[in-house]
This record gives sequence, C-alpha cells and structure tokens, in this order.
Amino acid sequence: MDVLALIEQYLSRWVFIPVSNQFLGLFDLNGRLCVAFLFISYSVAYGLFRWRRARGLTDAHSFWQFIGGNRVHFHPSALLDYRYYFVRAILKVVLVVPIVGLVDPYVLRSGDYIRFFTQLWGARVQVEEHLVLTLLYGLGVFLLQDFIHYWAHRAYHSRYLWAFHKVHHSATVLVPATASRVHFLEKVVERLTDLVFISAFAGLFWYACGGEISRYTLFGVTYMVFILNALAANLRHSHVWLSFGPVVEHVLNSPAQHQVHHSDAPRHFNKNFGVNLSLWDWMFGTLYVTQTQPEPIRFGTCEADHGRYLTVYSLIITPFVETLGKIRLARRSLAVSAQAGSSVRATARTASRAVAPAAGTGVGPAN
Ligand SMILES: [Zn+2]
Ligand SMILES: [Zn+2]
Repeated sequence: MDVLALIEQYLSRWVFIPVSNQFLGLFDLNGRLCVAFLFISYSVAYGLFRWRRARGLTDAHSFWQFIGGNRVHFHPSALLDYRYYFVRAILKVVLVVPIVGLVDPYVLRSGDYIRFFTQLWGARVQVEEHLVLTLLYGLGVFLLQDFIHYWAHRAYHSRYLWAFHKVHHSATVLVPATASRVHFLEKVVERLTDLVFISAFAGLFWYACGGEISRYTLFGVTYMVFILNALAANLRHSHVWLSFGPVVEHVLNSPAQHQVHHSDAPRHFNKNFGVNLSLWDWMFGTLYVTQTQPEPIRFGTCEADHGRYLTVYSLIITPFVETLGKIRLARRSLAVSAQAGSSVRATARTASRAVAPAAGTGVGPAN
C-alpha cells in the first residue's frame, strides 16, 4: 500500500470519521447538545426574557443580547469551546476508548455479580416483566450515576485532580458547548466508574428479579436523563439566569446553581457539585440556592489563569504540566522536611551526649 493511501486511511479513521460523527451528534437525542434540546432550552430562555422584560427586570434590548450576544458567543473562550468540541471526538477514539479498553476486561460485569449472589444466596424465581420494574431500574441507574458523579466532581476539586477539572472551569464565558470542555482523563475515569458501579447495581437488581429485565431507555439514555436534558439542561452553561427557587433547588440542580459553581468568587467556592440533582449537595453540605434575581457572577478560575487556557493544546497538556509541578514541589518539601528532621535529631543526639556525663555523675548507678 502506498504511503498516501495509508495516510488517508489513518486520517479517515482517527480524524474525519470521528469529527463527522461528532457533528452528527448535534442531531442525536442521546447527547445533551442535541439541537432539539438546544431549541427547547432557548425557548425557555425566550419565555424568561419576555417575562423579565414585561416586569422591567432586564436591561437587554433584544433576546440575542439577553443570552449574551456577540460578547459571549464569539468570545475567545467560546470559540475555543466550539473547536474543542470537535477535537474531543479525536481524543475519544485515540485515547479515551483505548485506555478504557485496557481496563475493561478486568471490570466485573452484571453476569459476574448474578453468579456470585446465586452462589451466596441461591437462585431466585424470575419475576414477570413489568413496566414498574423497568422504570425502577432506570430510576436506580439515574440516581446511582448522579450520586457517583457528585462525588467524582467533589474529588476533582481536590488538590491533585483540580488541574484536570480546571480545564472545564477555565471557561470565562459559558456557552452550551462548554459542557464538552472536559479533559480526556476525566472522561476516562467517568466511563470506568460508571461501568464498575452500574454493573454492580444491574447485577444486584437483576439477581433480585431472578433474571435480567428489559431496560427502559429513551434513545439509549435513561429516561430520567432524557427528560432532564430536554428540560433546559443546556442553560447550565449559558449566561441565562434560570433559578428554580430555593425550595426546588434543594432537589433539582438549576442552571443558576451550576453558574454559581463556575463563579470565581470565594463565597461560591466548592458549592453545587451536583449534575442533575442538588439533593446530594443538600445532604452533604455543599448546597447553594439561588433567587429569581440574578447574582453578579464572573466565570472562570483566577485572573492569573486567564491567559493559560487559550488553545486546544493548553487544554490537553497544561493539567499534566501543572500536576507534575505539584508532585515535584511536594517531593522537594518532603525532602526538605526530612532533612530538617534529621538535622534536628542529630542536634538532639549531640546535645544529649553532651548532657549525659553530668547526669550520669549525679543519678547513674555507681560502678
Ligand atoms: Zn467543578
Ligand atoms: Zn460546568
């Protein structure tokens, strides 16, 4: 095969097909960024615009201005998000899928759990297929996934993982495509944790039912995710302040709550880790509820980071460089403290040797 044909084959496999699939993803009801969901989200935003304008609660002269206008949608941060949306498709086939594939054979599947429980407690009689069961299964998967994502998100805000999650928070304006501004390693971990926990849940649920029951999904996603994606989920990454009010926001995560999560103000730090539900934030003390009146928020991390995440390359590489720097710093400070500790011990030993004869002469046993 000649070189040109080989290059074409590789480009098609690793670039053209993934990128065109990513484009087609805009019409796929599995993804949040589906145009149908975008249309619903912005229809809700339009209703909000009319409602606010009628009450004199907005200064925006047009709907385009209300949702951020050119200032937001053509901001360098937003333009980077649009580019990264397509680059992510390449990262997925080149890195995410192969890395997950390496670990995948070692992950226990639902069948393994069913066999294990059957050996432990014996076989169960298969229950009849029922819509309630399939709905319960879907609800269980949704709750489990949301719960795992809450804790994974909290973990990503910790010292060593923050560098990777900062890629998402480095966006200084929010557009729906910002949801895809996620480092590939975060995606690898998300896929693997979902696989591990959902396999265990499915194994336990199906064992309890005496066998596998049909999964009730809409277009391949659990019906709960589908409903929530359809209900203005795209406004989470936008400049449209949509609050559900303090009561509902104890359970459901509103777009305004997620915007608070992206705020660079210290009073908003480490709040609202929930994805679809804020119930977990309420349960574990990280809840921040919002009011109808928008809060002045500046998105991003800190001023010093603004110039660091301006290219696709920086989104992928900077987290590794930053983490390596942190590890080196930690090792250096460990070495310094170990050195300081040994010199303190040496000084103490010298001092005790110097003191010992005097003490010996007074209280030691007589020879
Ligand atoms: Zn976060
Ligand atoms: Zn976000």
